[in-house]
Amino acid sequence: MTARAFTPVHIGTLELKHRIVMGSMHLNLERTDDGGAALAQFYRERALGGADLIITGGAAVSREGAGGRTYALVNEPESAPALARAVTAVHEAGGHLALQLFHAGRYAFEATFGLRPLAPSSVYSRFSRCEPEAMDEEQIQRTIADFAAGALRARELGFDAVEIMASEGYLINQFVSPLTNLRDDAWGGDAERRRRFPLAVLGAVRDAVGADFPVIVRTSGTDLMEGSSSDRELDDLAVALVAAGADALNVGIGWHESSVPTVQALVPHGHWLGVARRVREAVRAAGFEAPIVASNRVNSVPLADEALARGDADLVAMARPFLADPRIVSTSRARRLELVNTCIGCNEACLDRSFGDEPVSCLVNPRAGRELEYPPIPLPEAPAPSDEPGATASVERPGRVAVVGAGPAGLQAAATLAAAGMRVDLYEAADAIGGQFQLAGSVPGKADFLETIRYFENLLPALGVRVITGTHAAASDLVGYAHVVVATGVLPRAVHVAGAELGHVMDYRQAFAEPSAVGRRVAIIGAGGIAVDLAHLLAEADPEREITIMRRSGRIGAGIGPSTRWAVLAELRAAGVRTLTGVVYGRITADGVEITDADGALELVPGDTVILAAGQEPHVTLASELAGEGVPHTVIGGARDASGLNAVRAFDDGLRAGTAV
Ligand code: SF4
Repeated sequence: MTARAFTPVHIGTLELKHRIVMGSMHLNLERTDDGGAALAQFYRERALGGADLIITGGAAVSREGAGGRTYALVNEPESAPALARAVTAVHEAGGHLALQLFHAGRYAFEATFGLRPLAPSSVYSRFSRCEPEAMDEEQIQRTIADFAAGALRARELGFDAVEIMASEGYLINQFVSPLTNLRDDAWGGDAERRRRFPLAVLGAVRDAVGADFPVIVRTSGTDLMEGSSSDRELDDLAVALVAAGADALNVGIGWHESSVPTVQALVPHGHWLGVARRVREAVRAAGFEAPIVASNRVNSVPLADEALARGDADLVAMARPFLADPRIVSTSRARRLELVNTCIGCNEACLDRSFGDEPVSCLVNPRAGRELEYPPIPLPEAPAPSDEPGATASVERPGRVAVVGAGPAGLQAAATLAAAGMRVDLYEAADAIGGQFQLAGSVPGKADFLETIRYFENLLPALGVRVITGTHAAASDLVGYAHVVVATGVLPRAVHVAGAELGHVMDYRQAFAEPSAVGRRVAIIGAGGIAVDLAHLLAEADPEREITIMRRSGRIGAGIGPSTRWAVLAELRAAGVRTLTGVVYGRITADGVEITDADGALELVPGDTVILAAGQEPHVTLASELAGEGVPHTVIGGARDASGLNAVRAFDDGLRAGTAV
């Protein structure tokens, strides 16, 4: 790292210690009926972890502009206590908090408050599945006033800045785009008139808060919508915004309706930095020095630092990485990168929940959003020397806890138990920890899953956990432990199709372990998340491969979260993978799989290799044996419930078990 990230910077009158911003995330904690306690603790821990500037999730400036019923309503008294409490928490922790002023426009849901969404024009939204009402002049003026009132309210509540949300396809972005602004009055028409609304909002906000209060605009760097604003128009808007008094621009990427993936794991890290750079060059060419903030697909401080050193941006905003690790800034600054819990871009516990009503959390940090319920795992001062060599039949056990299985559930349980002061032995039958994350890490676009393994590889010994790999722990080996946490995971579900015993049939674990042993024509029985991952892996390894994935019922890729599934399936299609649902299996032959397809036609799905990936079953042998031996134990993760093979649930189980034992 060049340490450029850790140089101070100003946003207007706001002096920041470094250039990493915690970007806005809607948490679904904003209106929890707890007086704002959980929200405040969430932000407090990020500020304590080194975040200097935190931008809140969107606070709606009006009910019809809310993105859901859990959004803070900045202009209503009921939201004030929670917002003020968040401000106090962040200030006490030494950070700064900016309130994001939000209006969803046609991305609002009528069902939220029974109000028809408002938009510049009545253009149907695929995202909210509604046809909004075109705003009249009075509604436009009232909405501008709502933004101004929200900004003033933020200042009164003690916020250090506001960010006007004008990107991602929300209301202000809708006014800018020719796709959604079909007006021919003073608020629509050519690009200059389509810029009038954002400039009017910014002007009203500035008038309300005064010249000295920092105002950031989250402006779109690219809409990723065919026929929407051109790069030139968006650059002109950026220049107009800083000319009109924006203290900084935070460059957003893409609309929620866009068919271009923006934040999914399959998007390369740093992919969008060039957009921020383009906007910055336009602003600098026009003679303005306002700082430009880059965002999207930057998940580490070193990567942000590279972008800053290159001049892509003046600050970098990261959002999900702060969910995964509240201490990402301080740990990175201390150059203890091996102990950063990296966001893996899965979206499963964050984005997929933020669009519903469920509180947001994080797959690799199940404590996120529940900081008041579970104690933190402390950052070890220094790697602790192991108190004893690896556990064997002869080592002392009384008072120790054994965790068996070092997949997601077992890793989280071991770390949580050790953090609680327990002495922990973690057994793993394979030669390395990680379980199903080892398989996932080999899938195109999922290499970050290996970062989670790297994190635990470093964390567990530093917490004093004895990690014993390559050891199959039987119940008789575990007698004497105070408690055993069984995290033995899953086994491939048996497939009862004639011919499953033939030599060219293998289960998914074998295929992941040795893709080169898989032939050129591949029939995969099963089409859930694992089958989809495997098809990706095999297609990338050999683009000439002919691959079919099929299942009896259900959707292809069922179980993959909604914010990711569409992008993953598009990749599968692009790779030429054939997908079949509603099939009835006949038998496996030397040439493939005989099926009856959804239309009732008989077909031979070609396969010189047939792979069984039709789900998993809990691996419960050890749990049964322990019960027989009378050893106190808890069963977690896939060993407890294999349905859907849900990593979010596995980590969550590990956290709960680690706290409850
Ligand atoms: Fe990142 Fe996944 Fe956690 Fe979301 S749930 S913050 S994408 S690791």
